[in-house]
Amino acid sequence: MLKLKFRKLYKVPFTILFQGNVLFLIIFLLQITKVSAQKSTTRFATRADATVDTAAKKYNSKSCTTYQAYLYDSLNPAYTPMRLVKVNFHIIQDGEGKNNFQEATSKGFFRQLVDDANNRLNKNEKMNLPKENSTEVVPIPFRYVLAGDPANPNDDGIYYHRNDSLFAMNKKSKKKDNVFDRRQYELYGTQKDKVINIFIIEHYPDSVASPTYKASSDGVGTGSWAKLVGSYHLWKNPVVMENGDTLKFTTWTLSALMNHELGHCLGLSHSWNVDDGCDDTPKHPGCWNFGAPPCDVCSNNVMDYNAYQMAYTPCQIAKICMGFYNDKTTRKYLVNDWCNYQPEKSMSIASGEQVEWAGSMDIFGDLVVENNATLTIRCTVSMPPGSKITLMPKATLILDGCTLTSRCNNGNWEGIEILSGKKFKPSIITRNKVIVEKANNIW
Ligand SMILES: [Zn+2]
Repeated sequence: MLKLKFRKLYKVPFTILFQGNVLFLIIFLLQITKVSAQKSTTRFATRADATVDTAAKKYNSKSCTTYQAYLYDSLNPAYTPMRLVKVNFHIIQDGEGKNNFQEATSKGFFRQLVDDANNRLNKNEKMNLPKENSTEVVPIPFRYVLAGDPANPNDDGIYYHRNDSLFAMNKKSKKKDNVFDRRQYELYGTQKDKVINIFIIEHYPDSVASPTYKASSDGVGTGSWAKLVGSYHLWKNPVVMENGDTLKFTTWTLSALMNHELGHCLGLSHSWNVDDGCDDTPKHPGCWNFGAPPCDVCSNNVMDYNAYQMAYTPCQIAKICMGFYNDKTTRKYLVNDWCNYQPEKSMSIASGEQVEWAGSMDIFGDLVVENNATLTIRCTVSMPPGSKITLMPKATLILDGCTLTSRCNNGNWEGIEILSGKKFKPSIITRNKVIVEKANNIW
């Protein structure tokens, strides 16, 4: 039976063979092989491979600087990579080395402070406000890391200074010695364009002694520096509550203030009393804790003043992420890991997917656009040195007013590799001004 079937299937070739057209058949088969070998190719794309779509509506490149383009995507968590923000500490003692933490005994305190601030970032909480909200809780994609000068192995990023006029501030002062005083940063700031400098100062001892002055835990955060004020006094003098309990001021307590002030450095505003540009941070009376109405529900957002400061909203996180792509704001404070080619972190746009990147991206490995997938890029995409973008035969890449580059000075990326099959060739469409640069295989 099998034999019969075999004969039946190959009836035509056998017929041809028996008709004596052997030579014709061999030539025919050779031609097919040759053609298919020619059509299945792998090479790097040039501008000639792109179809220019002049009819396309001019794209508003403002998407690069709108937070919506950086909102966390739970289906694609790799689009929001974990970042490390470099910080250091400057503890300013008075001229005699008093009135602040001591070098011999407090380094562990500041290391624990960084750990506690990161522990808070590890467990983002659901927003308390507005009442019965359905605001999503998304992971916080950054942590702090202590950063000394890499050229000096003994530099741990924790510094002690003595200065009689800069060790303290007066929060009531309208002159320069209030919390906004920049002199500490100007005099002692280090690695200013790479690390956020945090200054640990006190209230003046004579202010602390006054019954009308509240030596509170205060702070400020602005651009490349922050100040945490009054920690030493509060740590040294635990508050005894009315019920007899002792309220200790610990690294955990201080880490809430640190996250708040660093929130300012990373681009966030207060949320309870001003329009911070986020729809998910409602205005409210600014209660410190739960109590009688209107404090029956108290905020727990990090950028309010409250006893919790444990919630970052999706908008706040997106705004911070947006800054991480901006050289002029916070990108310079990140540990640069986007210039190390990490193939295990390669990304692919899966078959059938239509993906649009409206915001900037850092790619840590290669990028593959699979068959029947479309990727639209509208902003800046950084590829690490040695990496490439690969387009499968039925892939579509739309470059819309975007820049493909390597935001690195340790080498170029390879370019856009196109795989063509027998019948299909990937499609590259360009709209508006497109820049492909720093590629070894010139576009
Ligand atoms: Zn603030």
